[in-house]
Amino acid sequence: MGKRYDLTVVGGGPGGYVAAIRASQLGLSVALVEREDLGGVCLNWGCIPTKTLLKSAAVLDAARRAEEFGLVVDGARPDPELLRARKDRVVTRLRGGTESLLTKRGVEIVRGVATVAGPGAVSVETGDGTLDLESSRVILATGSSPLVPSVFPHDGDRVWTSRDALDGLHIPESILVIGGGAVGCEFAGFYSTMGARVTIVEMLDEILPGEDPSAARLLRSAFRKAGVDVRPKSRVEGIEPRSGSVVTTLEGGDEVETERVLLAMGRRPAVDGAGIPGLGLRTERGAVVVDETMETSVSGIAAIGDLVGGWLLAHVASREGIVAAERAAGRDTMMSYRTVPRVTFSHPEIASVGITEQQAAEEGIELTTGRFPFAASGKATAEGEGAGFVKVMADASDGVVLGGVVAGPGASELVHEIALAVEARLPAETVARMIHAHPTLPEAVMEACEAIHGLSVHSLT
Ligand SMILES: Cc1cc2nc3c(=O)[nH]c(=O)nc-3n(C[C@H](O)[C@H](O)[C@H](O)COP(=O)(O)OP(=O)(O)OC[C@H]3O[C@@H](n4cnc5c(N)ncnc54)[C@H](O)[C@@H]3O)c2cc1C
Repeated sequence: MGKRYDLTVVGGGPGGYVAAIRASQLGLSVALVEREDLGGVCLNWGCIPTKTLLKSAAVLDAARRAEEFGLVVDGARPDPELLRARKDRVVTRLRGGTESLLTKRGVEIVRGVATVAGPGAVSVETGDGTLDLESSRVILATGSSPLVPSVFPHDGDRVWTSRDALDGLHIPESILVIGGGAVGCEFAGFYSTMGARVTIVEMLDEILPGEDPSAARLLRSAFRKAGVDVRPKSRVEGIEPRSGSVVTTLEGGDEVETERVLLAMGRRPAVDGAGIPGLGLRTERGAVVVDETMETSVSGIAAIGDLVGGWLLAHVASREGIVAAERAAGRDTMMSYRTVPRVTFSHPEIASVGITEQQAAEEGIELTTGRFPFAASGKATAEGEGAGFVKVMADASDGVVLGGVVAGPGASELVHEIALAVEARLPAETVARMIHAHPTLPEAVMEACEAIHGLSVHSLT
């Protein structure tokens, strides 16, 4: 007879640990099984370490631009050891915080590799033997793994995944990044600021596929100014590690020789592990299929996070975790993907939320759009960050905000005011008439909403 809980959560990433805490808050007894570090990819090899390093890059960039701000700063340069130490400190601190939250909320943390045998039956290889857990419900939150085509010679040394790059934290003299999505662009920006010669190869027509085209163009032009060689519409045919370098051959025969190659082609849901293949769960396009309550095709087993595909984002995983946990506790919470902010933490930052113009065109929704350039923002100009824009899209029939794009300073924060309007179905006029403090970046959101009615005061657009 194993240990008994109301709920067993498999995987301690931002999906699983958030689900465990919420279920415990609602009175369930919860076991959380994790085979590696609490916090999952996001905290240990994803969101947090990359943003910590990008902050270092932003500080270095500011130091190099100091003269523009009337300051003299000599000799600013990266020190890989110090960069790594700061990244590790931040990750360790947050990981400790996560563990302490779980423990204080009464979640039982079980360390080991879980295999789900069926609804309510989970066995864990702990290293000291097998522990059987029984529970009324199971939430699968086992995440994803990097997409590494078998023809690419990934060795963790010269040819990296993002995890290799973060674990080693070596600043190469040159690097070729395969994949111009958010992760590829963030790494490209980091290495470029740190002094590496960077090439980005993207198979599709533009970097940041799926993102607003004018925002993607803005980032591409910022990369070009920074000396990053951006190659859209380029397909990699082969990668050959040689002594001291890697030669990447592109379709058409072009060869690019760099010290390292980073594979940033996306991730695939971890449908092969945790006993999932034996559970008979319905899968589609390599992801576990769930309904809007996060329940799989097998009763008593929910799945959340990267494992279920769609938006492979930490905050989506967390929301799905909350829905699954509240369902387990008997609440009637439903998942909605109406308001999902998407951010690329590049320089300039690119963020969007809600509907895209392309999606509106496909769905036959007529939009009315307001745009405000940061060049006309007092705060952005004072900060020396005048590139970019805010764009708000509203339903032409009633003016309700359906989506928006922010490309420029503070985009990752500003997008949330638009997100709130999308979620609460606010008319753009409501955002426009709310008094915004001056001088601030959110004034640009207000002005973009005013621009929908041709009434932006500070811009001629
Ligand atoms: C470089 C990079 C940067 C990123 N940056 C961002 C960002 O800025 N913002 C953002 O929103 N998203 C970002 N992401 C994506 C984000 O990390 C993921 O969407 C998020 O981690 C998914 O959470 P999850 O809980 O579904 O899975 P994970 O975080 O992958 O967690 C799954 C956990 O399950 C555990 N596990 C798996 N199998 C078992 C088993 N059998 N037994 C026990 N434990 C198991 C794993 O060890 C892991 O800890 C980034 C990803 C990468 C790679």
